[in-house]
Amino acid sequence: MQRNLIGGEICGEPGRSAAVYNPATGGVVEEVTVGSAGEVDAAVAAAVRALSERGWAENASLRSSVLYEWAKEIEAHLEELTWLLSLENGKLLSESEAELSATVDTLRFAAGQARTLEGRSLTLAPDLYGQVVLQPVGVVAVIVPWNWPVLLTLRELAPALAAGNTAVVKPAMEAPLTVMRVLEFAMEIPGFPAGVVNCVAGEGGEVGELLVSHPNVRMVSFTGSVQTGKKIMRSASECLKKVVLELGGKSPSIVFEDADLNKALAILVRGAYGTAGQNCMAVARILVQDTIFEEVEKRFVDLTESIKVGPGLDPTSKMGPVISERQLERIHTLVEQGLSSGGKLLAGGSRIEGGSMSKGCFYAPTVIAEMPLSSPAVQEEIFGPVVSLERFADEEEACALANGTPYGLVASVWTSDHNRAERVARRLEVGTVWINTYLKTFPEAESGGMKQSGLGRSRGRFGIYEYMEPKHIVSDIAEG
Ligand code: NAD
Repeated sequence: MQRNLIGGEICGEPGRSAAVYNPATGGVVEEVTVGSAGEVDAAVAAAVRALSERGWAENASLRSSVLYEWAKEIEAHLEELTWLLSLENGKLLSESEAELSATVDTLRFAAGQARTLEGRSLTLAPDLYGQVVLQPVGVVAVIVPWNWPVLLTLRELAPALAAGNTAVVKPAMEAPLTVMRVLEFAMEIPGFPAGVVNCVAGEGGEVGELLVSHPNVRMVSFTGSVQTGKKIMRSASECLKKVVLELGGKSPSIVFEDADLNKALAILVRGAYGTAGQNCMAVARILVQDTIFEEVEKRFVDLTESIKVGPGLDPTSKMGPVISERQLERIHTLVEQGLSSGGKLLAGGSRIEGGSMSKGCFYAPTVIAEMPLSSPAVQEEIFGPVVSLERFADEEEACALANGTPYGLVASVWTSDHNRAERVARRLEVGTVWINTYLKTFPEAESGGMKQSGLGRSRGRFGIYEYMEPKHIVSDIAEG
């Protein structure tokens, strides 16, 4: 049984637990404790206490060194964590390992950031001086989804801690186990104060809502769907909590006729079907110039059909299952809506049954061409292995199509004309644009969404600023 972490203690109330299932087999991986209202209160109280002790918020070198040690601890357990993550989430072992390695890198970067936070001083008038000091916001609730659970937790938690905040984490009940193990490791690090990091597992409508509405939680850092993001923003507005929202995407990739197609298609196919398409930044729409449409269509479908789907623990698999029956049904409903709206099914379009996959949630990699922009399967995030192929005539139409959904997370541009790539990149309403590449994220560079893909930024300099309050202190040193 995996249990909660509150004030440095591992705990859980008797009789409150839920099973975590392996999406490849339907079998139970482990039970997890379900937090109560009392445990949410206790976790927030522990975080408030830890914040008031001067040893954390005012000790940047301690914060830096414990974050660095935490990275080492995760690295030392990489194999065991990789296995657990693939068991509960279904993703390939190589994807789990990449996620955990990126988590280690994120912690190391935050460890450095902790010691480089600087305010500034101002000369405002004769004898009047200002200082802008950066202070932590307070107790942060970190609420995360199941698709990249460990990286997304630490992507927010690491800068929050580096900036001197304390936190209560709420993992998603579909895949909470690896996150909770990683958080427990923090407790084994000498000098890591109890109560700085707490964790309460439970459903969003219960533990999540209790955290968002808790009067002593000063900020909510949320990664998840647009629908839940809106709910959280409404609820946080009751006491004007600070929110950072990292939400869904429907990312367009624009392929011009002068693109290096060998490179583009090999990268786009990985971007589309990695983590079975359950990635906020997945390649969801490929916009192709009409002069090369038929060639791209044929080659992309061939690549799609060559993907070997299977359990994430099988090293020969190239795509794992989706997280749950509910997710599989949602994917299939949107595929059917896309076809009814006029789309042409070129590959996949159904669940995979039979053999070793009969008990799991496996959906075939799917390509649909020529759906109108208004189709629900183009407008809504599917969060599964489904790609829409769309045509455009010129740069103007490509930008209009790419910007034609409510989302604005990431996009990519494929062309050998660098001037055109730069022009298009500046016109796309998204937080990140990749030129002739895809899915390159780094702790030092900001990521986040425009439009309904979110508010605020993760990573980089702007990412850590989200977790700090600048305070202006003015001194008049004139004699009276
Ligand atoms: P979700 O919104 O259903 O849940 C996310 C988290 O919020 C879970 O921990 C859930 O329990 C919790 N939650 C649900 N309702 C809540 C409520 N009322 N109050 C507080 N917490 C609540 O999302 P999901 O299905 O777990 O994840 C998939 C979504 O996450 C996709 O839309 C995906 O694009 C998005 N996502 C975004 C990013 C990003 O960086 N922008 C990264 C990964 C995933």
